[in-house]
Amino acid sequence: MPENSPVQNENTPDAAAEQPKSTGRRNRLIVLGAAALVALGLGGVAVATTGPDRPAPTAVSLDAQSRVDATSRADRSARESSAPVSPSASPTPSPSAVSASPTPVKTVPAKAKPKPKKTTKPTPAWVDPMPGAAVTSCYGQRWGTLHAGIDLALPSGTPIHAAAAGTVVQAGDAADGYGNSVFVDHGNGYLTHYAHQSRIAVTVGQTVKAGQVLGYEGATGDATGPHLHFEVHQGMWNQIDPAPFMRARGVDLGC
Ligand SMILES: [Zn+2]
Repeated sequence: MPENSPVQNENTPDAAAEQPKSTGRRNRLIVLGAAALVALGLGGVAVATTGPDRPAPTAVSLDAQSRVDATSRADRSARESSAPVSPSASPTPSPSAVSASPTPVKTVPAKAKPKPKKTTKPTPAWVDPMPGAAVTSCYGQRWGTLHAGIDLALPSGTPIHAAAAGTVVQAGDAADGYGNSVFVDHGNGYLTHYAHQSRIAVTVGQTVKAGQVLGYEGATGDATGPHLHFEVHQGMWNQIDPAPFMRARGVDLGC
């Protein structure tokens, strides 16, 4: 028994002396381990265990606090990134983020429907008097005489349109083989002449708009078949070539 007491006495101070050393070493190991785990972003539990064990110095507590903060930050970021995915798929949140983002992008263009329609289409100043017609004869010398207009052919009864706005100055059977003719004065020194009509739809003095129907194609007068004989006059009965005149105004008659 007396042997035991000195041993115990020796042991007690030794144990007491050793304890702070061992705990200090353990502390350092835990702190290092915790730091390593924090660095990996998984140290939440390890850091929490170091806290309540011992009264740590202020420097250590600040360190621990900063680590806890770092851990909570890391944890929060991990939670945020893994939140939209199913809880099992935590390590790789990137595919979910990628797959999630294109979905709203696709819906945006589908909803956005631009409407470039304009209700009022501005009428050009000059239009084709008989759109889609085949040119059977151009302005120029033909059979020893001047063919003073352009022949445009479509089936009889096709509407004939005013090439531009103006006033009807002549409407009826004209001489010289023109048959039923309409003359429109455009008020700028030029007139247009529409011959061989089967039926006339306007009267002298009438104001017409560009594209307005003047009458219907036919073969009255000197005509081998139904067609519109279209002339441009620079001053009454001073016929000029309609092709370059109309082309300069945006209408290609094909000659
Ligand atoms: Zn002709």
